[in-house]
Amino acid sequence: AHEPLDALIAGLAVDVPDFPTPGVVFRDLTPVFADAAAFRRMVDGLAAPALSDPRAAAVADGRAGPGFDVVAGVEARGFLLAAAVALDAGTGVVPIRKAGKLPREAIAAGYELEYGTAALELHTDAIHPGQRVLLVDDVLATGGTLGAAISLIEQLGGVVTAVSVVIELTALGGRQRVAPHTVHALWTT
Ligand code: AMP
Repeated sequence: AHEPLDALIAGLAVDVPDFPTPGVVFRDLTPVFADAAAFRRMVDGLAAPALSDPRAAAVADGRAGPGFDVVAGVEARGFLLAAAVALDAGTGVVPIRKAGKLPREAIAAGYELEYGTAALELHTDAIHPGQRVLLVDDVLATGGTLGAAISLIEQLGGVVTAVSVVIELTALGGRQRVAPHTVHALWTT
């Protein structure tokens, strides 16, 4: 029998106090990524809600496949996850990047940080209307990042069939900010 996935992640993740700024406890997932068995199960776990979500099936409308047509990942740690999930599912992968990184025509969505604002960008031709998108990132904190990412996908006509993260930090209320989309978290703390 397997160790539960949340316990596996909790056991490998490292809390780094006061990084990158005083008062923040940074959840370092690099040891989880580096562990072959944990990485395998994490990738499976991120895709699972998109396979079982009735919305994914409803939108699928007869189309074959894993319940999503493409995986979108948020820079930078989300890229590692999105690429692995996509390769495993047999779909492509789309990067949602920080402002100024994408070379061609892109749309932007701003969001509030604790101090100031930030923006994410997506190539306008990266998502096609009606395309079913699985969105992944490593950590859900305030939800600003995923909220902006969802807005970008939906502006291009994409259908977000599932949002998956490795860790949800419940104290920061990110789940409320991302509603009505449901966030699937492998470890909630
Ligand atoms: P937020 O927009 O507040 O939900 O923050 C989510 C983004 O910031 C994710 O892309 C995370 O990689 C990163 N992040 C926020 N807080 C933490 C934390 N405590 N530990 C690790 N990463 C974090």
